[in-house]
Amino acid sequence: MNPAFYLSVAQEILAEHAPPNLRGVTILLPNYHAAQPLAQALIAQAARPALLLPEMLTLSDWAGRIALPIDSDTQRIALLYQTLRDNGWFADAELWSLSRELLALIDELTEHHVALPLTHEEFSARLVEAYAARSGVSLQFEARVVHELWYAMAGDSKTDSVRVRQQRLVQIAEQISQPLYVLQTSAPSAPEAAFLQRCAERVVVTVFDLRVMVREQADQALIVSALQRGSDATDLRADALTLQRQPVARLSGALSLYGAHGLEQEARAAEVQIRRWLLEGKQSIAVVVQDRLAARRVRALLERAQVQVQDESGWTFATLSVSTVLMAWLEALQNDFYYQDVLDLLKSPFLFADAASPQPTPPQAGEGADESLREPQINVRKQVAYLFEQMVRKQGVVSTLDAYLATSTDAELSRALARLRQAAAVLPKGRVTLSFWLVALRNSLEILGVLNAWADDAAGQQLLQLLGQWREELQDDKTRCSFAEWKRWLSQQLDLNTFRDMSVESPVRFTHLAATRWRRFDAVLLLGCDAKHLPAPSNSLWFNDAVRAALGLPLSRVKQDEVRDDLLALLALNDEVLVTWQAHQNGESNMLSSHFEMLRALHVLAYGDDLAAKELAELIASAVVRNADFALPDATTMPRPVLPCNLLPQRISPSGYNSLVACPYQFYARHALRLNDLDEVREDIDKRDYGTWVHAALQRFHEQYPLLLNEDAATLAPALQHISEQVFAEALAHDYLAVAWLTRWVQMIPAYLDWQLAREQHGWRYSAAEVPFETTVLDDLVLRGRIDRVDSDADGAECVLDYKTQSANVLKAKLREPGEDVQLACYAAVRDAAVTAFVSLEGKVTDVAPPSMAGVAEGGEVTTLGRLNLERLREVYTQMRAGTALPAHGAESACSYCEMRGLCRQGSWENGHE
Ligand code: SF4
Repeated sequence: MNPAFYLSVAQEILAEHAPPNLRGVTILLPNYHAAQPLAQALIAQAARPALLLPEMLTLSDWAGRIALPIDSDTQRIALLYQTLRDNGWFADAELWSLSRELLALIDELTEHHVALPLTHEEFSARLVEAYAARSGVSLQFEARVVHELWYAMAGDSKTDSVRVRQQRLVQIAEQISQPLYVLQTSAPSAPEAAFLQRCAERVVVTVFDLRVMVREQADQALIVSALQRGSDATDLRADALTLQRQPVARLSGALSLYGAHGLEQEARAAEVQIRRWLLEGKQSIAVVVQDRLAARRVRALLERAQVQVQDESGWTFATLSVSTVLMAWLEALQNDFYYQDVLDLLKSPFLFADAASPQPTPPQAGEGADESLREPQINVRKQVAYLFEQMVRKQGVVSTLDAYLATSTDAELSRALARLRQAAAVLPKGRVTLSFWLVALRNSLEILGVLNAWADDAAGQQLLQLLGQWREELQDDKTRCSFAEWKRWLSQQLDLNTFRDMSVESPVRFTHLAATRWRRFDAVLLLGCDAKHLPAPSNSLWFNDAVRAALGLPLSRVKQDEVRDDLLALLALNDEVLVTWQAHQNGESNMLSSHFEMLRALHVLAYGDDLAAKELAELIASAVVRNADFALPDATTMPRPVLPCNLLPQRISPSGYNSLVACPYQFYARHALRLNDLDEVREDIDKRDYGTWVHAALQRFHEQYPLLLNEDAATLAPALQHISEQVFAEALAHDYLAVAWLTRWVQMIPAYLDWQLAREQHGWRYSAAEVPFETTVLDDLVLRGRIDRVDSDADGAECVLDYKTQSANVLKAKLREPGEDVQLACYAAVRDAAVTAFVSLEGKVTDVAPPSMAGVAEGGEVTTLGRLNLERLREVYTQMRAGTALPAHGAESACSYCEMRGLCRQGSWENGHE
C-alpha cells in the first residue's frame, strides 16, 4: 500500500483549511472507493480527536442533484435508426449497432464543440458556428452523415442527455461557493475541463493529478519511464543506466508477470494466486479484467473452490440465463420452431414456472431459480423436453408447431406445444412500434410462465424492470419494425445493459481499469494483459480515426493514453501486482501488452530481473496448490472406464457386439451409457434411409416373386422398379433428395436381378426376409436381432444373407480377419446356417455401367466360427462383470465412423494407442 499520495493530498487541504471543520470544502472524487483512504489520511494528518470531513462526491452524482427532464437514449437511437433506414444510408450495415455508435459520436460532437453554453440561445449559436466550420469542408460520406445528423438532432432536442448534463454543470458552476479539490488520474474531458474553468472563476480550484504526483516520486521512476515510452524502444540502455542509480525504483517482489500456456492455465494461475492471497489474510483483492473470457473461467474456478466473487463491472444481460429463455423463445419464433430452438427453450428452467411452489430461500442471482424447489413443474418441463426430443428423433419432424402437434401422441407434450402456440399467437405478424412489440412480448412471456420465474430471480427482476422501462421510454416513438428488426434491437439492448449482483460481498472483486482510479488494494491481479486486450481495441465498427479527425474529435490515441494513465496510477498506488496473459494461444505465441513488455525490458536491463512470477509458475507446474474438489479428468490419456455391473446391457445385438470388438469404449458409450440413443436428428435423407428402403423393396419383391426363374424375365425389372417407387413414395413427397436415391437404386436393378437369377440357377431359393432371432448366451444376456434374408436349397441347407450398401472391396476387408466382424458369425450361430454372405448393393449413382454385384462368402468354417463367436461373447461379459476396463482402442477404421470421438477425446491422447 502506498499511502504517500493520499497523505500529500490531505496535507495540502489541511494547510489551507484549519481543522476540525472541513465542511466548507468540496472534494471531487473519481469514485467513492477513494473516499475512505482520503478520509483516513485527513484524520491521520489532522491529528485531532474529531474531524468534520469535507463533502466528497463524484461529478455525475453532483450533477444528478439537479433535476431536469431528459430524453432517453433508447428513443434517440430509435429515431436515428428510422432516419438511416428511411434514407437507405449504410444499406448493408447492421443499423442498430450503427445507430448506437452514431449517437455516441453525436454526443461527443456536442461535448467537444458546444461545451457548457449558458443558455439555449447560446447553445444554438455555438451549434451553428461549429456546424458552419465544417460545412464547407469536403467530408467523406460517413463524416458528412454524422455531421448533418448531429446538427439536426442537437438543434431539435433541448433535453438530450449531453445537453442536460451540460446545463447541470453550468448551474453548479454558477452556484459554487466553496473551494473545490479535484482528484484525477488523466486529462479531463472537454465538458469537465470547461466546468472546472467556470468554477475557477468563482472559487479556488485545486487539482491533484496523480500523473504529476507519481512523476515526483523516485520509487516510481521505472514505471513512469516505461509507460511514457509507449512502444518507443530507443535508448533503453540509457534509461536503464539512470535507473540503476535509483535502486528504490526496482519492482522485484512488487510486480510479477505470468505468461500462461493458454486460457485454462491462465485461469488456474489466477485462481491459485487469489487463494494464496486469501490465505495470507488479504482483505481486498482486485482482479482487473482485461479479458472477459478468462474472467469467466477464473470466476468458475473460484466458485468451485467456494470463493465468492464480488463483481463491480457486472455481466451484460445477454450473457445471463434469464435472457437465454427470452432469446431462445425469439429464436424459436423466428425459425418457425426449428426443433433445436424448441429444445433450447424447453431446457430453460425459466419456462413454464407459473405454478411454482413457494420457495423458502432465494435462488442465486442470474442463475435461475432452484429447480428442486419447483419439483412438480420442473419434472413436467423436463419430461416435456425429453418427450419432444424423442419425438423429433423418432419421427423426423424438425419444424413448425402444427407438425409437432400433429405428430405428438403424449397429452403432456401436446399441452406444452399448444401453450407455445398460444404464446406465439399474441405476437404481431407485421411491422409495429418497438413499444408495441414489448407489450406483446410481456404477454407472451406471461403465457409461457417466464415472468413468475423472473420474479424469483434478482437478474430476472432487473430484466423485467428494464423491459418495462424501455416500453415507457419508447411510448411516443413511431418507428415501426418487423420481428427481425425488433429482435436485433432487443439483443443489442441486452448486450448494452449489465447486471450487478449487489448481494455478494467478498474480498475478491472483479473490476475494470477505469474503476481503479485512486484506489488501493491489498493485492491486484491484472488478468488477460496480452497485446490484444491491453489497451483494448476500439469497439467502433463504423467510424474510424479518419472520420473522427474530419469531425474534429479526439482520436483513439486519447483513449489509449487514458488507459496508460490508469495503469500508471494503479501500479503507483498498489504494492503487490500480478499480471497474467496467455503467452501461447492455439500453439502460437501471443504478445504481452506493450506497456508491460517495455516495463519488463527496462527492468531486465536495469536490474537483471525479468519479473517472471517464478514461484507461481512452479506451483502451477507441480499442481501443489489444488482444490481437492477440482480434479479434471486427464484429457491427455486414453480413457479406460470400468462398467458398473448394473449398467451391463442384458440384451445385445450383433452390431453392439461388433462395437465391443472394434472398440470397448465405443460399446461403453453407445450401448451401456446408451448415448447413441441421442443420435443427431437426421434432417436430410442419408444412406441409412436408402438402405432401409432398398431392403423393404426387395422384401416386397421377393414375396411377390419368390422364384424369378418362373417369371417372364422382361417383366421383372419393371416390377421391381414399380415396387421400389411405391416404397420410396413417402420420402419423395418430403425430400427432393429421395429422387436421387431412387435413381441410384433403379440403376442397380438389372445387376441385382442378374445376381438373383444366377443364385437360383445354383439351386438357392428365396425363403424369408427380416427374420427375427433371439438366443440366450448367458443367464442374463440375450443376443437378438433381425436377419435381412434367408435362402435355402433343395437339401434344406440355409444361406444367411445380409444386404449392404457398401462396395464388395469394403466388405471383403471386413471379412479379411475371421472373427473381426461378428455379424455373419452371429447369424450362422443362431440359424445353424451352412453359408453366410454379405450382398454388396453398391454402385455409383452416376455410373452408367452396372456396378459389381457379388455375394462375398465368408472364409473359414462358418459353424465353428459361429460357436467361437458366442463363446467369446460369454467370456468378455464375464470379464466385464469382474471389472475389466473398457479401453478406447483408437483404431482409425473404427474411429472414422464413430460419433463418440468427442467423448473419448481421440486425437488428444499423448501416448498414442495401447
Ligand atoms: S472414436 Fe475411436 S477410440 Fe473413440 S470411442 Fe470411437 S472408436 Fe473408440
